[in-house]
Amino acid sequence: MDEKQSQYKDIPKEFHSYEKDGLFTNCIECDRELLSGDCDYVIEKAFRNYQGFKAEDVIFDYAICMDCAMEIQKRMSKESMFKIQEYMQKQMLDRHQDLAKRDLTNVDELYSKCMFTNEDKSNCEEYQVFAFCRGDKMNLQMPPYMVSGPILDEISELLSDETRDELNGFFNKHFSPSPGMFEPDPRLILI
Ligand SMILES: [Zn+2]
Repeated sequence: MDEKQSQYKDIPKEFHSYEKDGLFTNCIECDRELLSGDCDYVIEKAFRNYQGFKAEDVIFDYAICMDCAMEIQKRMSKESMFKIQEYMQKQMLDRHQDLAKRDLTNVDELYSKCMFTNEDKSNCEEYQVFAFCRGDKMNLQMPPYMVSGPILDEISELLSDETRDELNGFFNKHFSPSPGMFEPDPRLILI
């Protein structure tokens, strides 16, 4: 298999748009076409699991082009960015050996277990998955990953008020959640 073939994989159903029941087609922020393949983009999806019921809800999902993601990141406070990076680095260091063993050919496995705690998604009340894509393919050079609820909480607590406002602003602009949908706050991670 040549390198190009192994770096790009079809985007799994897990990363399809809930609303469109198919691939995401446009950037949520600038509406740019994503499937023409001329830009990198990120897909984020948040799920809630009803344990014991074998049911799963998509809390929110979207695709955002790298340019827009960078813009939002720039508006986050330096303090928040620093804290998040510090947190990630510490976690990654702790998990270094496990992460090095991640099997990049088993794509489903990559986003089925929390990158930080290794908890399987079936045991997570809430979790978010992330994928880096180009056109209709997932880019495995930046492998997809999953973050479980407790870690989302921890990261969320690191954010400054300013950054929280910024992210809430992004949210309110694009989603009109039904009451009680986000408890306590939408937790958005653009890293
Ligand atoms: Zn965009």
